[in-house]
Amino acid sequence: MDIVLATRNKKKIEEIKRIVEGMQISLLALDDFPGCPEVKEDGVTFEENAVKKAEAIAKYTGKCALADDSGLEVYEMKGAPGTLSARYAGEAADDRKNIERLLYEMHSIANEKRGARFVCCIALASPDGNVRTFLGHVEGRIGKEPKGVNGFGYDPLFYPEGLNRTFAEMSDNEKDTLSHRGRALRGLQRYLTENKE
Ligand code: IMP
Repeated sequence: MDIVLATRNKKKIEEIKRIVEGMQISLLALDDFPGCPEVKEDGVTFEENAVKKAEAIAKYTGKCALADDSGLEVYEMKGAPGTLSARYAGEAADDRKNIERLLYEMHSIANEKRGARFVCCIALASPDGNVRTFLGHVEGRIGKEPKGVNGFGYDPLFYPEGLNRTFAEMSDNEKDTLSHRGRALRGLQRYLTENKE
């Protein structure tokens, strides 16, 4: 099955490619479809944003499209940065600036109140207007300083529940097994397996 990947985030693309390997999906890149519309991520939920991106790309390309909207929710901060995770430190933010901002916002939060989760919503849209969504979560806590060099985004701060290493200190395989994105994509895999024509 051909699916257009509706994201330009290189790290996400790498992860998604890795996780769907062996799933009978061949992923096409947005760059294969010049002129694809840029979709504004102005939804209140991950689901809204993922659906909006997948629908727009499926409509434009005439092929099935897969979008990922994901982010970090810190319980003590009412779920922030949430859907604003990529732009937490402003429009020109990068991973380092976002991490700095998060550490600053959390500087007075004690260890036992640093609980957080990563959330991922994967949306699969077909050109005829059908959309399915698949959610994945991983619970954990936010450290007081960045640790590790793998992964992307807030990985150097995120300790999955019960573990003393951040996502950025894990191998790709370990992260994929535990991660919100891995869980959401395995939901997609089950759906595709159960709905093979
Ligand atoms: P999106 O492109 O709006 O979905 O932005 C997702 C943002 O959430 C990323 O730029 C990261 O800051 C954060 N994020 C999502 N997934 C991960 C992950 O697996 N590790 C670390 N940060 C993530």
